[in-house]
Amino acid sequence: MFDSLSDRLGGILDRLKKRGALSEADVNEAMREVRRALIEADVALDIVRSFTDRVRTRAVGAEVIKSVTPGQMVVKIVHDELIAMLGSDAKPIDLDAAPPVPVLMVGLQGSGKTTSTAKIAKRLTERGNRKVLMASLDTRRPAAMEQLATLGTQVNVATLPIVVGQSAVQIARRAMEAARLGGYDVVMLDTAGRVTLDEALMAEVAEVKAATGPHEVLLVADSLTGQDAVNTARAFDERVGLTGIVLTRADGDGRGGAALSMRAVTGKPIKLLGTGEKMDALEDFDPRRVAGRILG
Ligand code: GDP
Repeated sequence: MFDSLSDRLGGILDRLKKRGALSEADVNEAMREVRRALIEADVALDIVRSFTDRVRTRAVGAEVIKSVTPGQMVVKIVHDELIAMLGSDAKPIDLDAAPPVPVLMVGLQGSGKTTSTAKIAKRLTERGNRKVLMASLDTRRPAAMEQLATLGTQVNVATLPIVVGQSAVQIARRAMEAARLGGYDVVMLDTAGRVTLDEALMAEVAEVKAATGPHEVLLVADSLTGQDAVNTARAFDERVGLTGIVLTRADGDGRGGAALSMRAVTGKPIKLLGTGEKMDALEDFDPRRVAGRILG
């Protein structure tokens, strides 16, 4: 992820670092190049603009340009502003509520929702020592329910028995009840996806949310779809309210525009990155580490 952006920014900032003195024109020229690199990485335009504006304002400040190492100070400003753009601190999944804690997984079909549900459940079980129950609410696609059951067996996490004919809300309520009776800590609710954003999908998710009161509502979005992923997040947030994002297929995304724009556009943190098809391919999204990776 971020390979080409990292190369581009590395080149621009290396040249800056080597300069003994910096003029305002030098800073402006460097910011033009940074701007082009971010646009090529598919970062949302207004985010690119506010980022370069903030860096430029700080960088042309007298204390930077007149300092002994102005180039290095500009590089530090870029680094700091990149971290701020990405959301500053890592935001892990928050389960600080009375068990069973419902976690609602939402997103478009094919985004990696079911896979991510099982990955998170595995991690909470193995690392968090939680007792997790997963339930598929995809009443239209029996294959999706079976997929979650298969993954559950694979990662050793319980899934709610499938009952044909129930609505999404009925399944969600049954899952909560089963979790209470069975002493589960966390209930992962894998909602149905659709190929496109539509009102029926949103209404169903909103209804399940109202019925279960989830502590986390995580949107699963495909990194490869770039700004579409960001727009999907904005639409879900406006309609049902999100607490965070799981960005999948980070392993195949050479540009990283969705990862870079998501927080600044939607105000919602990326909590986790999906980095492959395997059940362990899940990483925490830590803005400091990500900025470090981009700037090398
Ligand atoms: P859903 O329709 O949103 O539930 O999507 P699925 O969970 O069924 O995932 C669709 C496909 O994407 C599957 O083949 C997954 O293995 C794959 N997938 C999910 N997450 C990732 C990821 O982070 N990286 C890669 N490379 N593939 C992924």
